[in-house]
Amino acid sequence: MPELPEVETVRRYLDTKLPGDRITAVTVDLPRLIKNRTEDAFRRTLTDRVFRAADRKGKYLILRLDGPESLMVHLRMTGRLVFQEDESLPDPPYTRIRFSLERGKLTYGDVRTLGDLWIIPSEGKTGISRYDTLGPDAIGDAFTPDYLYRKLKGTSRAVKAVILDQTVVAGVGNIYADEALFLAGIRPSRHADRVTKAESAKLCEAIRSVMLGSIEAGGTTFRDFLDGAGHEGGNVENLRVYGRDGEPCTVCGTEIQLTKIAGRGTRYCPKCQK
Ligand SMILES: [Zn+2]
Repeated sequence: MPELPEVETVRRYLDTKLPGDRITAVTVDLPRLIKNRTEDAFRRTLTDRVFRAADRKGKYLILRLDGPESLMVHLRMTGRLVFQEDESLPDPPYTRIRFSLERGKLTYGDVRTLGDLWIIPSEGKTGISRYDTLGPDAIGDAFTPDYLYRKLKGTSRAVKAVILDQTVVAGVGNIYADEALFLAGIRPSRHADRVTKAESAKLCEAIRSVMLGSIEAGGTTFRDFLDGAGHEGGNVENLRVYGRDGEPCTVCGTEIQLTKIAGRGTRYCPKCQK
């Protein structure tokens, strides 16, 4: 499933391609992907609008437009936004929504059709509560060691559950939670209020560095992720614990364990993580 680095990879690509381009037509094959408008209103709102920028918070992509309203997308499990310069090329597989542009086309494809598209005000609150209650972005300036320490101090939940909580920090999903906790040497099941100030600084830095490392590699492709140009990401080789249960730890050789925390499969090294 696309996490923050994959969404950021798509955002960066779209931000080099879309600004200045005008939407000339919108074709919707699966109206239920549009969450807060009818198909007609969605088409009317977007047709003739010009892209300003591609922004992101957590795993939400915001395609800013020149009017009072903009387009917000959550890719969920298998959503893909692909820009093609040559409009005569066939649509990518499982295309559900197609934006014809003056200089190419943008398609939203989705195998499992779990993605969400919303029309939101271009300024201020979106009215989408799950977005409006997001904590600071995991690679943004407001996500600081002090901030994370305060959040961890206030609860005895498992530390992994806290960093997966999108109201605490936006954009940390299962893969990067496991990777960051490994890097910080913290057992995912540890009570959050037992994490020291020094450890939470390490964890804050680890979250940032696993995210940035993956963005550098073009995102992590397990099954379905493709970047904004339709390419696979290269981050799988960087993973230290995720998907490696039963294999030896790359640091100490101890077998990576698999357990369940906050309902999610969780991998950790019992020796390196305390
Ligand atoms: Zn180890």
